[in-house]
Amino acid sequence: MTRDRIFVVEDEPELAGILRDYLVQADMYVEILNDGNNAVERILNERPDLVVLDVMLPGVDGLTICRQVRAKSTVPIILETARVEEIDRLLGLELGADDYLCKPFSPRELVARIKAVLRRTQGTMPIGQEPGDAVGLALDAERWTATMNGTVLDLTRREFQVLLVLFQRPGRVFSRTQILDLAFPDDSDVFDRTIDSHIKNIRRKIKTVAPADDPIRSVYGVGYAFDG
Ligand code: CA
Repeated sequence: MTRDRIFVVEDEPELAGILRDYLVQADMYVEILNDGNNAVERILNERPDLVVLDVMLPGVDGLTICRQVRAKSTVPIILETARVEEIDRLLGLELGADDYLCKPFSPRELVARIKAVLRRTQGTMPIGQEPGDAVGLALDAERWTATMNGTVLDLTRREFQVLLVLFQRPGRVFSRTQILDLAFPDDSDVFDRTIDSHIKNIRRKIKTVAPADDPIRSVYGVGYAFDG
C-alpha cells in the first residue's frame, strides 16, 4: 500500500512539527507549507492525497486557497480554524472543504478525521461495504425504514429524513441549518432547534436496539456528523 501524501498548510512552526510527527507515526507522508504563498500552485501541481489547511495564514489566506483549489481539483481538504463560532460561517460559504477542525485540537483527532475523509473520498471502504455497515445501521430510502442490527427502528418520517442526510455522507459535518434545508426542503415550519430534538430521539431509538452504539457525533458549536 502506498502511503498517503498529506500537505499541512500551517504557519505555527511548533504546531506544524507536532502534526508532522503524529501523521508520520500514522504512516503518512507529510509536507509542511509554512505560508499561503504558492500553496495553490503546489497543491494543484503535486497532487497530495489530502490537504490540512489553516484559515489564518500569512500571504494568501486559507479561504482563498480553498476556493482556488476547489475550482480545479477535488483533493480532500480539512480546514482548521481558531474560532468555533467561525465554523458555521465557513459552512455557509460553501467552500467545498470536506471537514472542519477547531483549534486547539488533538493531533489524534486530526489523524482520525484524515482517515475518515480518505476512507470516504477514496472509496476505500471494504468491497461491498455501505455507509452504516460498520455500526450495523441500514437505511432504505424507498421504504423509509431504518434498521439497526436487523431490528427496525421506530423512527418518525422527520427523524428518518434527518438521519438520512447524515447517513448519506459519512464523516461529513453538517450544521443544523444545512440539515434543516436538506431534510425538509419544502417545509418552512421546521425551526433550527427541532433538529436537536430529532437527533435526541434518533439516538434514544438507536440505543433501545444497540445500547452501546451512538453513530451520531455532536460537533460542538457546529452540528452533527454520522460516523459509521
Ligand atoms: Ca495560522
